[in-house]
Amino acid sequence: MKADVKNFTPDIGRVYLVGAGPGDPELLTLRAVRLLKQADVIVYDNLVSDGVLAFVSPSAERIYAGKRRNEHTLRQEQINTLLVKLASEGKQVVRLKGGDPFIFGRGGEELQTLAGSGVAFEVVPGVTAASGVSSYAGIPLTHRDYAQCCLFVTGHLKDGTADLDWPSLVRLNQTVVIYMGLGGLPEICRQMVAHGASPELPIAVVQDGSLPTQKVVTGALSNMAERVAQAGLKSPCLTIIGEVVKLHQELAWFEQVKSTVAS
Ligand code: SAH
Repeated sequence: MKADVKNFTPDIGRVYLVGAGPGDPELLTLRAVRLLKQADVIVYDNLVSDGVLAFVSPSAERIYAGKRRNEHTLRQEQINTLLVKLASEGKQVVRLKGGDPFIFGRGGEELQTLAGSGVAFEVVPGVTAASGVSSYAGIPLTHRDYAQCCLFVTGHLKDGTADLDWPSLVRLNQTVVIYMGLGGLPEICRQMVAHGASPELPIAVVQDGSLPTQKVVTGALSNMAERVAQAGLKSPCLTIIGEVVKLHQELAWFEQVKSTVAS
């Protein structure tokens, strides 16, 4: 029977790799919401918000796969094997990941295992943190006056040492978005200045972007490590570096919406 891309195919197990967006459940795609309501089982990561999980049918099995830094509840190979097992039992499986599954989400690795095991799968993109978090922080990633290019990099430094391509990160007229960079922030700022970036280059770190707990801390490469430590920011945090960060002051809309709702 030909698979209907809009609905689950009965009796044939299938894995739907679904992006959950950065946190605000209203950023889910319609397709994600429908699949969450119909799935037999949801395998979800640590960054998936409670508001998103509220769409899951009460009868569905929920499996937490974890993946906090240094605290992997299930190892990646175990997750891969679990997905194959569940689909082989004929289940409709939603593999739910924060943001977009193909951006720093190991979605590709999971799909390779499924493909190798002959398990059918589909992918539902989500709003990636760079896009969702910058929007809610009022920081456009490109702007004709400031940045014509935008880089997404991971700041998860191996053994505390940096193996990022620093010369490409310090080019002018671009915005650099760093995922998973909170722990390495002092080293990232130091290396960027050492490779020629201005110590005054604006930088923002956004915690819990798009959620009511969102916090935005801004500064410059020279003082950001201190400011972030003072503010006591915690993961997940997204770092945005570049002249566009200046626009936050003028365009920060979410703080106002939050305070209107709260008052
Ligand atoms: N696949 C995800 C990224 C997973 S890596 C995506 O496309 O967004 C996890 C990193 O994403 C976090 O360490 C953080 O840098 C960033 N991130 C995800 N959600 C976030 C949020 N709500 N606020 C701030 N950063 C977030």
